[in-house]
Amino acid sequence: MSAKSQPYILATHMSYTTGPKVVIVGAGVVGGAAAHYLTLAGAKVTVVDKDPIGIHASGLALGGLGPLSGAGIPNPIGTLSIESWQLHLDLSKSLTDEYDFKLEKSLNIIFDNQQLETIRSLLDWQKSQDGFKVEWLDKSDVLDIEPRIVSAFLGAVVTEPTGIIDTYKFNNALISEAQRNGADLVVGEVSNIQSTGSACNVSIDGGKTLICDKVIVAMGPWSHQASEWLGFNIPITPLKGQILRLKAEGPPIPHISWSGADIYGSYAVTKSDGLVWVGTTEEHGGFDDRPSSIGRQTIMRSVVSILPQLAQGEIIKHTACLRPLSPDGLPVLGFLPGNPKIVIASGAGRKGILLGPVMGKSAADLVLNGYTSSNISALSPDRF
Ligand SMILES: Cc1cc2nc3c(=O)[nH]c(=O)nc-3n(C[C@H](O)[C@H](O)[C@H](O)COP(=O)(O)OP(=O)(O)OC[C@H]3O[C@@H](n4cnc5c(N)ncnc54)[C@H](O)[C@@H]3O)c2cc1C
Repeated sequence: MSAKSQPYILATHMSYTTGPKVVIVGAGVVGGAAAHYLTLAGAKVTVVDKDPIGIHASGLALGGLGPLSGAGIPNPIGTLSIESWQLHLDLSKSLTDEYDFKLEKSLNIIFDNQQLETIRSLLDWQKSQDGFKVEWLDKSDVLDIEPRIVSAFLGAVVTEPTGIIDTYKFNNALISEAQRNGADLVVGEVSNIQSTGSACNVSIDGGKTLICDKVIVAMGPWSHQASEWLGFNIPITPLKGQILRLKAEGPPIPHISWSGADIYGSYAVTKSDGLVWVGTTEEHGGFDDRPSSIGRQTIMRSVVSILPQLAQGEIIKHTACLRPLSPDGLPVLGFLPGNPKIVIASGAGRKGILLGPVMGKSAADLVLNGYTSSNISALSPDRF
């Protein structure tokens, strides 16, 4: 480990020197975080991925880290969300490779009284969280922060701090750190996972089989494929999202988000690459992860209605990727029912970059200790 690293120690396994052999299927942010925490605790880890690191959602997502809102926040996963935020703060200091972690202010624009009513009850909880300043600002105060916002809006909920990262670099930083700490990375498509007696067999296309003590299934939107292998339904489906990266004139745009009648969860923010990232879409269209002209038009229409000068922005990059979505929008995290050798860690939906560290750490805890102190009771795979 580098001098910069501060070892994370799993509570009851400080002396785990001859750790279990663990195979992690999927090297996204969830699998990467699990690999990181497991290697720090002394486990022998092999991560298998069919594709290069960072080419799916974990490397293409915006990278906004907002622990105070989203599906299941505050109940039932508010505490878990804040725990993951704390882990992000730790990781930003301890991971060797830089990934442009930045703390900033975010503005959630509110258009009408109905939206205001919806956020009011959440506001009380948000304001009560240590370490955050959350306040309601009227339109004129919002315009003092960002005068380029047009349209009729009432004001904004301003939260400080929120985080933002380069997700491609973060996903790679997690895997690289795990490799430095002894993990192996295998490129290949897993075609079966079988649990036999005291061991597990992970088959990889091409005929190779990895024999191990425990398996973590972190296959993101593809997690449902493991249902057949494991004889248990993992009801994860892909939810496509697109993002445009624009070159635009003028000073950087702070992290602005809004929801309109035709599009949910829109945002614009200038990131560390100097480009304005604008998004996003939510499309239930299977595993097609190609950017589309309809996606581009939808995003541009929404962002230009708030920040009209972005109509002149030059599109430098247009990406699309798939969120892993469960039926209730919450992660699926825990042992495969009846099998303490297999942990499922998937379904983080729209918040997987934020939740990746706590999901990976909890999966690592389960593998090593059989339990985790993180409150994952609402996320049990057998809840559906
Ligand atoms: C447009 C968009 C913007 C987003 N913005 C944010 C944001 O700002 N903040 C936030 O918190 N979240 C955000 N998200 C959500 C976040 O990106 C995802 O929830 C998260 O990346 C999911 O991580 P994962 O590790 O579960 O899955 P993935 O990143 O999909 O990783 C799964 C991995 O498993 C591998 N795999 C699958 N099947 C197999 C197999 N059979 N064999 C081997 N390997 C396999 C895949 O190749 C893949 O690398 C966004 C998502 C989208 C689409």
